[in-house]
Amino acid sequence: MDHILHLKCLICGKTYRTDEIDYVCPDHGDEGIVDVQYDYERIGQRFSRDDLRRSTETTIWRYKPLLPIEPDAAVPPLTVGWTPLYQTDRLAAELGLKHLWVKDDGRLPTASFKDRASAIAVVKAQEKGAQVITTASTGNAAAALSGLCASVKQPNVIFVPETAPQAKVAQLLTFGSTVMLVKGTYDNAFELCMQAAQTYGWYNRNTGYNPYMSEGKKTVSFEICEQLGWQAPDQIFVSVGDGCIIGGVHKGLKDLLALGWIDRMPRLMGIQAEGSAYLYQAWRSGEDVLTKPPITAQTIADSISAGLPRDRIKALAAVTETNGAYLTVTDEEILAAIPALARGCGVFAEPAGAAAFAGLVKAINQGLVASDERIVVINTGNGLKDVASAMKAVDLVGTQAHRVAPTLDNLKQVIEEEL
Ligand SMILES: *Cc1c(COP(=O)(O)O)cnc(C)c1O
Ligand SMILES: [Zn+2]
Repeated sequence: MDHILHLKCLICGKTYRTDEIDYVCPDHGDEGIVDVQYDYERIGQRFSRDDLRRSTETTIWRYKPLLPIEPDAAVPPLTVGWTPLYQTDRLAAELGLKHLWVKDDGRLPTASFKDRASAIAVVKAQEKGAQVITTASTGNAAAALSGLCASVKQPNVIFVPETAPQAKVAQLLTFGSTVMLVKGTYDNAFELCMQAAQTYGWYNRNTGYNPYMSEGKKTVSFEICEQLGWQAPDQIFVSVGDGCIIGGVHKGLKDLLALGWIDRMPRLMGIQAEGSAYLYQAWRSGEDVLTKPPITAQTIADSISAGLPRDRIKALAAVTETNGAYLTVTDEEILAAIPALARGCGVFAEPAGAAAFAGLVKAINQGLVASDERIVVINTGNGLKDVASAMKAVDLVGTQAHRVAPTLDNLKQVIEEEL
C-alpha cells in the first residue's frame, strides 16, 4: 500500500506504519484513534477526475486508489455506494432556500450509511485472515456488518443493546450473525464487545477504534462532490452519535482538497439529539473531549444515542476546522422531520436520518443558512428501520388513515365527512 504514508495518532501525533498497528496508538489505551494519512502526490499521479468520468464502477470501489486497501483486493459483492443525490427544488422553496440536495443513504444494501464502513471492515478483516469479525452497534453498523459478511460467508459476532429496533435485530438474525442482545446501553455493548475481541482475537470493527471505518465513510463526500460536478456545497448537515460519519465526511473533503479536486471546504453542521448531545456540549463549552465524562443518552433516534461518542476527536475537528456548528434537535423535532422530509422530497428516513433535516430547519430559523447557499442534507438511514417511530411521527402531525367498510356508499360518506 504505497499510497499510504502512515497512521497518525490524533492525541500524541506519533506515526506508525500500517503493518505496525491494527487499531489505536498503543500509548493511550483504547482511546488513541489514528488517522490514515495518504501520499496525495502519488495518488494524484495515478488517479484523476478524468479516470472517474470514464469509470463504469458505480460503487464506493470507484474510489479505490483513495481507500486503504490493495489495488487488487477482493471486495464484497453487495453494491455499496453511489446513492442518489436528489435536487429538491420544491422542498428548498418551502424552506426559503435556492439549492438543497438530499443524499439518500437509506438506499444502501442494508438500508443505512454504515454499509460504507462495513464494506471496508470486511476487506481489512480478510486481508488479515481473520476468522471472526465483531462489532458493537446501536443497530445499523451491526446490520451493515452482518449483511456484508453474509455476502462473503464471513463469520461474525454482533453486540447490540437489547432495546435495538426490531427491524435491525431481524436483519442480524436473518443474515445469520451470532447476535448478543446486551442487557444495557450501546455503551455497555461497546465495552463488552471490546473485551470479547481482545479475549478471542476477533477482528474489531468498532467505531472510533478501527481507523479504517472513517475511510469507508468518507466516500459519501467523494460522491456528493462528484455528483455536484466537483463544485463543493456550502454546508453539509449530518446527524451525529459516535461522530464517525461526520469525521468521515470531513476526511473525504480533506482528501479532495489535497488533490485539488474541489477548491473549498464546506461548513459541516453536526446535528445531535437534545438527549444525546455530548459533542454539542463539548463544542459549546470548549470542554476537552479526552476528559469530559460520559453523559446519560436518551433519545428516540436510537442510531445517534451515544453517552460517550467513540469518534469524538474527529467529530469535534470536523466542525471546528470547517467553521461549522453543532446543533441539537428535540425528539419532537426529529419526529416531525420524518413526514416533512418524506412529503417534501419522497425520502423516508429513520429518526436519526431525519434528525439532519430537523437540524437544517433549526439552522435556518437561527439564521445560520443564507438563502442562496448550496446545502446538502444526508439521510443516513431508511425509515423502514424503525416503523414504530414513523407511526408516532404521523400521529404527531395529525395524519390518520380512514377506516371504511368495503362499499362505495360508505366510501362516499367518509370522503364527504372527512375530506
Ligand atoms: C450511525 C448512524 C448515525 C450517526 O453516525 P455516527 O458515526 O455514530 O455519528 C446517524 N444516522 C444513522 C441512521 C446511523 O445509523
Ligand atoms: Zn498516541
